[in-house]
Amino acid sequence: MHILSKSTYIKGLQCEKALYMQKKHPYLRDKLSIEQRAKFQRGTDVGVLAHEVFPDGIDMSPTTPSQFPKKVKETWDNLSNPGVKVMYEAVFQYNDTLIMLDMLVRDGDKWLAVEVKSSMRLSDTYYNDAALQYYVLHGCGVPLSDFRLMYLNGDYVKDGPIDVNQLFKMESVMEYVVEREAFVAQNVERLKAVVALPHAPVVEIGEQCDNPYPCDFYGHCWKHVREPNFYTIDYKTLYSLAPQPKPKSVAYLNLLLYRPAVPELEGTRPYEEMILAFALQGEHESEGCFVWDCFDDHSRWKEVIDLLVEKLSHYELIVCFTPQNLSTTLLRHEIIQNQTVGYKIFNLFEVLQQAHFYHPAIKRGLTLQHLETALFSETKLFEHSRILLEATSNDLLSYQQAREDLIVENEIVAKTYQLLFK
Ligand code: SF4
Repeated sequence: MHILSKSTYIKGLQCEKALYMQKKHPYLRDKLSIEQRAKFQRGTDVGVLAHEVFPDGIDMSPTTPSQFPKKVKETWDNLSNPGVKVMYEAVFQYNDTLIMLDMLVRDGDKWLAVEVKSSMRLSDTYYNDAALQYYVLHGCGVPLSDFRLMYLNGDYVKDGPIDVNQLFKMESVMEYVVEREAFVAQNVERLKAVVALPHAPVVEIGEQCDNPYPCDFYGHCWKHVREPNFYTIDYKTLYSLAPQPKPKSVAYLNLLLYRPAVPELEGTRPYEEMILAFALQGEHESEGCFVWDCFDDHSRWKEVIDLLVEKLSHYELIVCFTPQNLSTTLLRHEIIQNQTVGYKIFNLFEVLQQAHFYHPAIKRGLTLQHLETALFSETKLFEHSRILLEATSNDLLSYQQAREDLIVENEIVAKTYQLLFK
């Protein structure tokens, strides 16, 4: 059986303890967040679509980990079978390190290795994992003509059915991975030694816990860190940021933005933003809160623009909570025409950050869920990104849940604003 894989190698580069825990105590991992699940799912969907660039390949994916040895052997058999032109998820093992390569394409008497990424930019982690894959392929003696990373082309505009040859771009990283081989070899030996330790290595919590990825063992490592269970805030700054003069009518706006990796609608690009739903809470709304969505037909999303222009015109202040710059979003979609004469957006997220709001619950980021815990000592079951994920899953029950979540989130925004400014 293998000791390292692509994911455990990357984990080990981030933190030796995380690698050890993953191998020896995986049950202590935090629950996978909805964002992480969404990201994995997106990666899988984009990866499958990328197969169309090199079609008619044989899928080597094992259905269970126990199949790895069998798949390694089948991969080898396919390498010497001239009838096999393309393999997806070909499985190789070298020096106790196992990899599954997204695509391996016959190229004369050599092979072209391709790894697919569902983003529009290449990061250090992508280069690192390509380097590990090259190390294993080279160690196994697979003759490579090139090693390329395939990723989404941000300039692609959908015009009819998706053209995968335009949607994806490729960049050769052959020179880089060859040059990094000795470095990878050293790391593999170091990380294998970590896994063989009788106890977890001692690693202090620190920046690496969130960089480059949020660590799965955060809950385990940080549980002994004792902090006061109350929030702190710089009230002087907070009050200096309060809306002046006091607005006569306030609305609470919660937008659900959606950025599909692969463009869904004609004329759109990868990750182009659309507004999938919104909730508006205010005195002019029937039953106190108005909810609009186009979950079941995304092509209707532009209807939201006129609706929001009309609805927002009834209020002097629009309160929201979002890490995004909502004014920019509203301007981009021409919902507000001009910030100075347009509606006044009051983003609690930015205000709380500027006023140095802190509570242990927000250690891993200021989210509405953590804010609710910090200010009101309660947490209702909701997650904004879960809405996003489920809203696109064609599951009608989830749509209902998504609508309810939009309202619940808005209520927390309203409660927070009233607590701090009224
Ligand atoms: S939480 Fe931090 S210290 Fe603990 S395993 Fe993860 S990265 Fe390492």
